[in-house]
Amino acid sequence: MYDIIVIGAGTAGMTAAIYARRADKSVLILESGAYGGQIINTPDIANYPVEAHISGFDFATKLYEQTVALGAEFAFERAERIEISGNIKTVITADNAYEAKAVIIATGSSNRKLGLGNEEKLVGRGVSYCATCDGMFFKGKTVAVAGGGNTAVEDALYLSNLAEKVYLIHRREGFRADKSTLDRLRKRKNVEFMLNRNVTKLIADKKLTAIEVTDRDGAVTTLDVDGLFVAVGRIPENESFASLLDLDQSGYAISDETCKTKTPGVFVAGDNRQKELRQLVTAASDGAIAASEAVKYLNTL
Ligand code: NAP
Repeated sequence: MYDIIVIGAGTAGMTAAIYARRADKSVLILESGAYGGQIINTPDIANYPVEAHISGFDFATKLYEQTVALGAEFAFERAERIEISGNIKTVITADNAYEAKAVIIATGSSNRKLGLGNEEKLVGRGVSYCATCDGMFFKGKTVAVAGGGNTAVEDALYLSNLAEKVYLIHRREGFRADKSTLDRLRKRKNVEFMLNRNVTKLIADKKLTAIEVTDRDGAVTTLDVDGLFVAVGRIPENESFASLLDLDQSGYAISDETCKTKTPGVFVAGDNRQKELRQLVTAASDGAIAASEAVKYLNTL
């Protein structure tokens, strides 16, 4: 039996583990993929205190090493559900059942899809959700980016250094992205903004060859592209634990500043929690708070 199981080895989860270990609690972190979470694909982090510039991979690796050095255990397994019996929480994976007195759900979020018929079939054949992972395959080619948030604008900026031509397709006029990044993108000569339009069709033989975009009046334009980078936001990963949480309309876990949930001894931290600002620094902050609250909870048992 562990004192605390943390589900998710992103910034929130690993920070929670650091705080829990420093309070001398036994900690298991369950992670279904690689450690690091969403930040691992970011080429340059320039808004985290102390480090003026650091790659997402280096950030995640340093955090992982710190967490391991403090004695947190890792198991690279997907947590499928949590069963509660009195004060004991059992986290079930495909092969194991792990018991703990408290659980911190720091599962983050996954890529939102456009929802087009052949979208999933074309992943790796022209459709991508990660510009920094796949951008190099499109050197000298024509690509489109869909979305109007920071990810889309940063992706378009990144791709404009590699591709010959970049279309940025956004469904309305206004952007969620930071003005400074948007201003930098507007200066790129090989970037064309296509606003008030949605990507409505993916045209492919074996690979993506073109996309159709449709404006608000229903007029369709076909763009010949080698790649489409989908950056239309993220979906919180709370579904497997929904019965233990209160979720808002978008599926984010509702909690107050203590990261508590409606289930005693179950906490949420990071991007899967309802909050105003989803950034590295707020993920780390959630991790610290959730762990401190979990430690307080353990002291009541
Ligand atoms: P986001 O801010 O939620 O933006 C998603 C974008 O996709 C929005 O422009 C949205 O349009 C559009 N969209 C959503 N569903 C769509 C659909 N079905 N079809 C077409 N367009 C659709 O997501 P994000 O860019 O991934 O960013 C997530 C969070 O991480 C944000 O808080 C962001 O600030 C943060 N982030 C920060 C940095 C940084 O600070 N360097 C970098 C990346 C991300 P509408 O605007 O019309 O809703």
